[in-house]
Amino acid sequence: MLFSKLAEYFEQLDHTTSRNTLVAILADLYSQCDQSEVRPITYLLQGRLAPFFKPIEIGMGINYVADAIGKAFGVDRKHVMQVFDRVGDIGTAARQVQQEAGKELSMEETPTVLEIFNQLMAISQVSGQGSIEKKIGMFADILQKLDPRSVTYICRIPVGTLRLGVGDPTILDALSFAKSGDKSLRKPLERAYNETSDLGLIAETLWKDGIEGVEKLSIMPGNPVRPALAERLPTPEAIINRMGQCAVEKKYDGFRCQVHKIGNEVKIFSRNLEDMTGMFPEITSGTLAMVDAETAIFEGEALAYHPLSGEFLPFQVTTKRRRKHKIEEAAQELPLKLFAFDILYKNGENLMGMKYVDRREILANTIKGEDSLIVSDWVIADNVEKLMEVFNEAIESGLEGIVAKRLDSPYQAGARNFNWVKLKRTHAGQLQDTVDCVIVGYIYGRGKRAQLGAGALLVAVYNPDKDTFQTITKIGTGLTDEEWKEVVERCKPYVTEEKPARVESIIQPSVWVEPAVVIEVLADEITRSPVHTAGMNGEKQGYALRFPRLVSFRESDKRPEDATTVQEIIEMYQQQAIKQVAS
Ligand code: AMP
Repeated sequence: MLFSKLAEYFEQLDHTTSRNTLVAILADLYSQCDQSEVRPITYLLQGRLAPFFKPIEIGMGINYVADAIGKAFGVDRKHVMQVFDRVGDIGTAARQVQQEAGKELSMEETPTVLEIFNQLMAISQVSGQGSIEKKIGMFADILQKLDPRSVTYICRIPVGTLRLGVGDPTILDALSFAKSGDKSLRKPLERAYNETSDLGLIAETLWKDGIEGVEKLSIMPGNPVRPALAERLPTPEAIINRMGQCAVEKKYDGFRCQVHKIGNEVKIFSRNLEDMTGMFPEITSGTLAMVDAETAIFEGEALAYHPLSGEFLPFQVTTKRRRKHKIEEAAQELPLKLFAFDILYKNGENLMGMKYVDRREILANTIKGEDSLIVSDWVIADNVEKLMEVFNEAIESGLEGIVAKRLDSPYQAGARNFNWVKLKRTHAGQLQDTVDCVIVGYIYGRGKRAQLGAGALLVAVYNPDKDTFQTITKIGTGLTDEEWKEVVERCKPYVTEEKPARVESIIQPSVWVEPAVVIEVLADEITRSPVHTAGMNGEKQGYALRFPRLVSFRESDKRPEDATTVQEIIEMYQQQAIKQVAS
């Protein structure tokens, strides 16, 4: 496939506002791909050269891309940046500069996708002295070989603005459609994705070995497993009624870490599957010193710990460790402890199908001693009093609640179900849970708010079946002036002219925002609503949050697809009704 053809698909994806059309365009694209192309094209669709968990980057910011555009078309960076300032997008600016120079090529003249992909990969591998000049030169060479549309899209890749709005489930659906004409392969594709997190690998395997090949893909050290997630129930009674005898663990509010030990190498992945190894040297050294296995994959929650007082610190403090500079100093000042709570793999054996209690035993035998790694405690409870003992202990030590776990449950990658159930406390001191929402737009404010940029946020929850974001509330109060400014600042890179294809909304905000910024929201109540699309189904009304307020920004550890799901909202609504009847 010529790169110009791919760029044509990019343009179609860019301009659609319907999720079904996204799937159809992608399925059409995939049906044109051969075996050698599906993998690179899958990564390029995500604006990348490799899966999210591989830190392979082109390594050129906007200024260097502008240098390359200048070099390719015979102008200086200043001119490119002037055009950029005017048009607001580096791709459009590049296209304009190419046109001014009269160097537009036709679509037929461009290299293939594979050639361009390999050249981008070569740029990502350039390092050492003079590497910037080299990268600029190589990127300029690419630009000189491309038609205007390809120039537009390729320039957005290094700067991270190629936002085609295709989520992972959309790609899985499209792969299924391309190979079988319907969604029937979605389930086995999704299982493979949950265990390997590599859509490119799955696409390539599907092309090479068919769905039978995909069915053989499973957990592999070095590839993060999509984390198992917890459901919620409103009261301790509801937990015991539903689960009977269960394990109760404290719920630590830090970073979920999945640690992979592969011989002498350690990799640490975040909940949203990013490689965070470099940020947490104490967990890496702890793993090498304390884990008694050649290869192992285990999970835990990493928390900031005050070395003098021995206190555990809240998420707002832990989050300071998510940084790229002065890591060693930060690790000294604010060391983390990893509370390990599960193990998925050991010395070549996949443990995910084993029962919780058996995995726990293996975990205890694998982590030796207590230092930067600690095997977290668990207690068996079959009554409310016992469960509340752990809950109260957790709250007293500054933690946020408990997670109850089914004793015979396997580890279900990427699944949120009643194998794990969380019970949290909030600031008000009552049992009430927060909702993770994604900002999809904002509405201009009036009066004083006008200066702050926004007067209300339009926020959504996630519908994984449709891979869409459905609105659930407008947040208009409870933010300080500073927070309003911060929200607008955080949304800025994601502002778009048209409604993003994966957003379902009846309300038309002043400004649309691509789903990216995740916020934690506390609300008084869930009600039915004719104006919000969350859970709306034909004639049936949607659901809305009443009196919502912002608790924290969560995009450092949650992707938009990690937001609360519509299904969870419906369950919370039903539980709320039960609670109201009970009280
Ligand atoms: P939430 O993010 O509110 O859905 O809660 C689930 C999260 O709690 C998990 O993704 C973990 O990051 C975190 N967590 C803290 N302690 C535990 C634990 N003992 N077991 C499982 N998850 C835990």
